[in-house]
Amino acid sequence: MNAIPENQLHSASLAARDLRVLWHPCTQMKDHETLPLVAIRRGSGAWLEDFEGKRYLDAVSSWWVNLFGHANPRINAALSAQLDKLEHVIFAGFTHEPAVRLAEQLVALTPPGLTRCFLADNGSAAVEVALKMSFHYWRNRGLPQKTRFMTLQNSYHGETLGALAVGSVELYKTLYKPLLMDVLTAPSPDSYNREPGESCEAYALRQFAHMERLLAEHAAELAAVIVEPLVQCAGGMRMYHPVYLTRLREACTRYGVHMIADEIAVGFGRTGTMFACEQASISPDFLCLSKGLTGGYLPLSAVMTTEDVYAAFYDEYTNLTAFLHSHSYTGNPLACTAALATLDIFATERPIESNRIKAAYLGQRARQLEDHPHVSEVRQCGMILAVEFVKDKRSREPYPWTERRGQLIYRHSLQNGVLLRPIGNVVYFMPPYIVDETEMDLMVQVAADGIELATCD
Ligand SMILES: *Cc1c(COP(=O)(O)O)cnc(C)c1O
Repeated sequence: MNAIPENQLHSASLAARDLRVLWHPCTQMKDHETLPLVAIRRGSGAWLEDFEGKRYLDAVSSWWVNLFGHANPRINAALSAQLDKLEHVIFAGFTHEPAVRLAEQLVALTPPGLTRCFLADNGSAAVEVALKMSFHYWRNRGLPQKTRFMTLQNSYHGETLGALAVGSVELYKTLYKPLLMDVLTAPSPDSYNREPGESCEAYALRQFAHMERLLAEHAAELAAVIVEPLVQCAGGMRMYHPVYLTRLREACTRYGVHMIADEIAVGFGRTGTMFACEQASISPDFLCLSKGLTGGYLPLSAVMTTEDVYAAFYDEYTNLTAFLHSHSYTGNPLACTAALATLDIFATERPIESNRIKAAYLGQRARQLEDHPHVSEVRQCGMILAVEFVKDKRSREPYPWTERRGQLIYRHSLQNGVLLRPIGNVVYFMPPYIVDETEMDLMVQVAADGIELATCD
């Protein structure tokens, strides 16, 4: 079908055409027999708008990618200017200014010691790069027996087979198990599971003992431990104390195992600091970045690593130590430009500081939900706030997943002009940083009503 003039397009007809030809991510397409697909015409600031002018507050930053709003004037201007110069060029043997400047700035911004930047084009690819680099590093250093990876229970690192293998959210993983490499899984430091009266820090330390034991036992065959620092986002916004990361860094060094920090979701200020690792005062051996990297504009990812790792690959070509990994769109100039404009906003508008006030406001508004008879926990880490609802508040027995109560909240929120996308029985907010107090009030109110609706039987 040819393009129809925009003023003649309607959300419902576009959705109907979509359902004839498209297949959406993370979706049982049959759900759309009853669940309307939302067709968006434009975005502005924290808001999305459909063809009839109905607006939705993007409380989940369009899957955790948007930082400074849709159609951000500064990012738009930077992209327009770059479009006239260079859209793309092969990144092997060639380079360009946006990539060089971006790498320079990432080296300066990320924790000390991360002096090398390898670019890829999405989060899962960054995780694959870090895993392959770690394994390959040990091989180049004469330790080819270090072939395994350790992960935390309830972690998520993406959907490609390597990234899926090192994750442990069963919903995404169980089916594909026959295709996945075997990894070691340590119990999670997730504070939700601490004993009554136990501090998050004490629980993290108690859980670290299991990690330490596994490291001691398996160090010889382990290439790396991969973690999501501070918040296991896809695992239901479960949070843990930074002392776990401090201990893990120290133990990884002691046992000769790499530490991979997957900050694809939590990087760029989500947890209250530019990178979550800062709260533990650590530098990992590999830092994976994506999502917010381009402010939510274009797919791009970066793996930051150390000079020690880089040096292990630097040799005569015929010694076959080079990292021969590539993606066609590596270092795409438009994506790098969006990232540079995003970092420029961080440097000039100081959102990390204003976010402190916003996060405090959001926390204070959402705190009321703790008293709800079906809410087991309201937890927050910087600009991420999650509300977990349960069948039984005292025992914390969850509602069976088959009841899909989160979906009731999703529908309710859309009807009321807010995009909330609960993960199972966890409603969360991860708004763009330009969100204001009125918008936060709306988010919390719609979530509160949604939880009431989903738990009232
Ligand atoms: C989203 C996410 C990924 C995967 O990134 P994609 O760009 O979706 O492939 C990996 N790790 C974490 C922690 C994520 O949240």
